[in-house]
Amino acid sequence: MIRPIVLYGHPVLRKKAQPVDDFEEGKQLIADMFETMHNARGIGLAAPQINILKQIFVVDTVQLAEGYDDDEMPLGTPIKKAFINPQIIEHSGNPIVYEEGCLSIPDVRANVERPFKVLIKYQDEEGQWHEEEYDGLTARVIMHEYDHLQGKLFIDYLSPLKKQMLSSKLKNIQRGKVKPFYPVILPNR
Ligand SMILES: [Zn+2]
Repeated sequence: MIRPIVLYGHPVLRKKAQPVDDFEEGKQLIADMFETMHNARGIGLAAPQINILKQIFVVDTVQLAEGYDDDEMPLGTPIKKAFINPQIIEHSGNPIVYEEGCLSIPDVRANVERPFKVLIKYQDEEGQWHEEEYDGLTARVIMHEYDHLQGKLFIDYLSPLKKQMLSSKLKNIQRGKVKPFYPVILPNR
């Protein structure tokens, strides 16, 4: 089931997500998250973005693998998976500046500096723990989605000047004036 995506300005995007203990309930939610993300042509989605304060995010960089060609940012190992109760253990590698966007902040893109690699511990849909290292674009998507579970957004990394430059676009989203092609929950509802 495609669920509406919460837009910037909605308070849920600033709250901390809670740990998951019911993995059966989680499975349906994860299926919905993949469907919602693909419908919106995204490569990552976190549960707070569909108004659910649970520690879950999904990533699909497999869909980018065919013909991927970006000298600035290697893809890393492409994955299509759900991360439940994730904990980032370590960042490493040289920080890289790369352009990001967010399904909750439509039509806003900006350069963000993040480390190249990430070591993450998480549970899968069966509740099994895994510890894995990722790099490149896959690591970047993981870091972006992980931030959502802490109530953090990519625009929080921008300089005051850059944020000022984007302020009218951000205000339009906050005022409910931006309507993407996918279903959304407006911030003022
Ligand atoms: Zn996002």
